Amino acid sequence: MPDYKNLTATQITAMVTSGELSAVDLAEKALDLARTEGKGLNAFISLCEDKALEQARAVDTAIKQAQPVGPLAGVPVALKDNICYTGSLTSCGSHILDGFVPPYDATCAARLVDAGAVIIGKTNMDEFAMGSSNETSYYGPAKNPVGENLVPGGSSGGSAAVVAQRIVPISFGSETGGSVRQPAAFCGVYGLKPTYGSISRYGLVAFGSSLDQIGPLARNAEDLALAYQVTCGRDPNDSTSVAFDHPDYTGEIDTDRKFTIGVPKEYFAEGLDPEVEAAVRDAMAVLEKDGHKVTDISLPLTDKAIAIYYIVACAEASSNLARFDGVRYGLREGRDKELAQMYSETRAAGFGDEVKRRIMLGTYVLSSGYYDAYYLKASKVRELLRREFERTFEEVDLIISPATPTPAFKFGEKLDDPLAMYLSDMYTAPANLAGIPGISTPYGRVGDGRPVGVQFLAGHFNELSLFQIVRILERLA
Ligand code: GLN
Repeated sequence: MPDYKNLTATQITAMVTSGELSAVDLAEKALDLARTEGKGLNAFISLCEDKALEQARAVDTAIKQAQPVGPLAGVPVALKDNICYTGSLTSCGSHILDGFVPPYDATCAARLVDAGAVIIGKTNMDEFAMGSSNETSYYGPAKNPVGENLVPGGSSGGSAAVVAQRIVPISFGSETGGSVRQPAAFCGVYGLKPTYGSISRYGLVAFGSSLDQIGPLARNAEDLALAYQVTCGRDPNDSTSVAFDHPDYTGEIDTDRKFTIGVPKEYFAEGLDPEVEAAVRDAMAVLEKDGHKVTDISLPLTDKAIAIYYIVACAEASSNLARFDGVRYGLREGRDKELAQMYSETRAAGFGDEVKRRIMLGTYVLSSGYYDAYYLKASKVRELLRREFERTFEEVDLIISPATPTPAFKFGEKLDDPLAMYLSDMYTAPANLAGIPGISTPYGRVGDGRPVGVQFLAGHFNELSLFQIVRILERLA
């Protein structure tokens, strides 16, 4: 086999389809790496060994029999552990889901399998996707392959780590406020937060339902587009998924179009690491030299985004997580006690501190007397923020900014300071509130070698422009 770690998903699927590579060999290789390097990084919560080999055999058999195979034939893929997948533990990084094996596949997982992908494992994550460093995982944090002691970001830290370590060329994470783009930036890989409603949320364990989106991670723009292409589209099982006539993302990824790119001054303000800023400004200069128009813009509501996000996300989380009560899923404590006591003991033992904090915050902002002051007000400002983006995309095609204010930080650095942790979402959360797509692309490194993520944002359903600009930048860099 050619050097597996250097193969892209696009190359793998071409070689598997032509019979040059066997899907089983690839699956074995990926599983082997997962058991060794993946284990060292604590990047997986569980592996789907038997099922992966079964899927790979099915792909090889189809090819031998000259039957058609999908666009991800034989490509090893990993899924964040909040995406339901039959036959595997789906833990959400939480103790409360001990032993929970979902009875159905998430639409995203089902579409991947239909496309010929081989799902090798479920990746580590912050508990219920609440966190920015992977440190809230019940299973202990995943590590960043870039450097000893560095967090991989979160909450999809495991998904970013396994792509950065080249265990799989594609993985999937989920975003509520930046959980794909932020770990992608920290680990030096590509990550997409798609338009709200473009990848079905059916089978994604809910955190903040009006914000949640599944998103792919990959090592280059083309693989990212391919991963999105096979998973996006209307799903009758998710009433918020949108019937949109998606273009051929991989077919149209190369363009000689020149974009107008807005630089929001609010994303280059206090708190931004100067080396990160320098890398983003370098990307801007490179694009300008290539003939794109880079122009200053203003998004005045930016500094409200974190406040709105933590009200809306916690409110929705407090409601969504009410279902974990010891009756229906996973852990049950206090079996011999009366019902309310059993709920209470289960939730006390099953949820970690950060999840408890969010449930309490969320319950508070939804409670009578506070609903109007917090939740309603936040929802109104959220709508203004959405309109601010909408108006901006009448003038520019894309927005460029840093993906995160700093490069990857160290374990323990922000764990005792929730506010500092929350601020690492300040450039990503606005897109979730507005429902627009955003991408983080690795661009340059700071002096000590930590990667920098450059973020591009686009209008609703304009993922194509995101793939195109990132492809242009990867060619120019
Ligand atoms: N870090 C953010 C949070 O803790 C975002 C999480 C996410 O996108 N799932 O809420």
